[in-house]
Amino acid sequence: MKKYLLPVKGNFYKANLHVHTTVSDGRMTPEEIKRIYMEKGYSIVAFTDHEIMVPHAELTDESFLAITSTEISTNERCDCDFCYTKTYHLNIYSPEENKSSFSTFDRSKMWLSHSYSYITPEQEGKGYNRLYTTESVNEVIRLANEEGCLVSYNHPVWSLQDYSDYIGLEGLWGIELYNTGCARNGYVDSDKPFDDLLRRGKKVFPLATDDAHRLFDCFGGFVMVCAENLSYEKVFDSLRRGDFYASAGPIFNEISIENGIVNIKSSPVAYVNLSTDTRLLYSRKAEDELLSNVTLDINGYLNTASDGINEHRYIRVTLIDEAGNPAYSRAYFMDELK
Ligand SMILES: [Zn+2]
Ligand SMILES: [Zn+2]
Repeated sequence: MKKYLLPVKGNFYKANLHVHTTVSDGRMTPEEIKRIYMEKGYSIVAFTDHEIMVPHAELTDESFLAITSTEISTNERCDCDFCYTKTYHLNIYSPEENKSSFSTFDRSKMWLSHSYSYITPEQEGKGYNRLYTTESVNEVIRLANEEGCLVSYNHPVWSLQDYSDYIGLEGLWGIELYNTGCARNGYVDSDKPFDDLLRRGKKVFPLATDDAHRLFDCFGGFVMVCAENLSYEKVFDSLRRGDFYASAGPIFNEISIENGIVNIKSSPVAYVNLSTDTRLLYSRKAEDELLSNVTLDINGYLNTASDGINEHRYIRVTLIDEAGNPAYSRAYFMDELK
């Protein structure tokens, strides 16, 4: 029986899950962000201003959803506002539209003047002692998860981080594989940290975002979220389940599997790569025409996968268009494939 790996029920909504506004260090107001993203066909924006979670429910209507979120950072040295050493940046997405505080709130880490005006008396004193250690960052993630929040690990390359910095993180929901603001400034992320985490059995989802601070950073990386409708609850549930893919260009129309044959339908692309937790790769390159409907027989992988070489078995699909822009599916694990 044919099994659809990419959801087929519901609508796909285009989302930018990482943006900064005049609430922190962005150049555009939340209203301007809504307007320019809607003009480009987006339905969802997560407002991730630095160090403060400010709801923008007033922007939400029947064709636009504002997700309540924040980006927090922990620097290698904490005695300055910001320094060019290693840093952890995490986005924290709230399951409640009107959440305005988060238990890791730290006034001493506030960025830029506008943010202060949003601090409520009850938020004062909710500081959290952030240290540049895996344990300390895991404590932030744990607290966020306790509040039902989703946590993403952002732009490892710009953050100057390597394997030792991220492999011990627990409770992550997503990881940025593509960050437009970083990429356009020369810090190009890759899918390697994603595979590193997956191979350790950490079921994170791939994200492509803009991290927009100004117009220059906009309209690169996005996610396509499949949800029953555009309500906060439905979209958040879809995000939590991983009913989305990440892209900087290509569009997935279908990923399905039947009798070990994977069918990938997409916008026209130059490459379709189906990678696994091992070195085994199923790949197709466009010859005379671009690819938009590819079948790949992965029975070889499914058979060797039962040998138990690695207990964390998965496949995932990458599309690359003619301009070199990628799109990433989430990872599909063995229990979904057999
Ligand atoms: Zn960041
Ligand atoms: Zn950011």
